[in-house]
Amino acid sequence: MSRLPTPEEIRAVPKVLLHDHLDGGVRPATIIDLARDYGHTLPSTDADGLASWFREASNAGSLERYLETFAHTVGVMQTREALVRVAAECAEDLADDGVVYAEVRYAPELHTSNGLSLDQVVEAVLEGFRLGSAGPDGRPRIRVGTLLTAMRHQARSMEIAELAVRYRDVGVVGFDIAGAEAGYPPTRHLDAFEYLQRENAHFTIHAGEAFGLPSIWQAIQWCGADRLGHGVRIIDDIAVSADGEAKLGRLAAYVRDKRIPLEMCPASNVQTGAAASIAEHPIGLLRRLHFRVTVNTDNRLMSDTSVSREFASLVDAFGYGWDDLQWFTVNAMKSAFIPFDERLALINDVIKPGFAAMARPA
Ligand SMILES: [Zn+2]
Repeated sequence: MSRLPTPEEIRAVPKVLLHDHLDGGVRPATIIDLARDYGHTLPSTDADGLASWFREASNAGSLERYLETFAHTVGVMQTREALVRVAAECAEDLADDGVVYAEVRYAPELHTSNGLSLDQVVEAVLEGFRLGSAGPDGRPRIRVGTLLTAMRHQARSMEIAELAVRYRDVGVVGFDIAGAEAGYPPTRHLDAFEYLQRENAHFTIHAGEAFGLPSIWQAIQWCGADRLGHGVRIIDDIAVSADGEAKLGRLAAYVRDKRIPLEMCPASNVQTGAAASIAEHPIGLLRRLHFRVTVNTDNRLMSDTSVSREFASLVDAFGYGWDDLQWFTVNAMKSAFIPFDERLALINDVIKPGFAAMARPA
């Protein structure tokens, strides 16, 4: 059997990320700087101490403590300067991890408490991504598209959907809803999804993370989601017999037949209890059954992760080789919300040659 990819090699190959929250990936040192400027009180003012506080709160197995961590990132992202800096550092960190294309999401309505308008928030983040994407020679090292998120327990989804359409030619590539799933079904925001469909716009929906099949079914069959954020509970519609044979229910079959992309975030799912461990994560079965699985980070700070680390943990748990990692990467690029010809160019000119160079025996 050939040698498995090492963490250093994984970092070197071109990767694609579709599900990453801007407020879930802020550098601890930056949170400390901004908190000092804005008089925000933190649980620790030492970068290492703060990083471990985030890790511990996120690993506590309590959704409340997990959500509390976001008060300290969103809390310091309330001015244009802060948003530009956080977005620029996000693009730099992803490029340093070898990500060549990323879709990063955030909820504009959470960044207006100091008086910024929704448009000003969007413009600041776009400016940050532009600055952070440029390499030392001025050429972009990474392409970052923005997804605008509406909070599912609030009532601003139509307004945010219109914002996404307004900025779609300058870097916003899609829309999403996020927040507590139970009690807030996606159909609550049906008018926003119908508007986006009439506008020929793209969207994904956080569904099937903590909550079960009805959430996934609504997201696809009522709302028309192009992709599913997480979607792990789709395994509730798959029966596996003792000899390993899988039987798909109608919804699982539909998701696989229609090649609906699943934005899976293994480390995050383990932290929030959606999966017991990486080795027991549904991604193993779903990959084996050829669902359109993609591998994502969700919240890099809270989960102390990166795309490379997610891949490395899957290599450890499932023995994946280069073919598997390339398959996940091509799946993600095919599922991106940028135009088809641009996706194809990245697959043929960047991703395939990058993996071929790494996988070739020396
Ligand atoms: Zn998410």
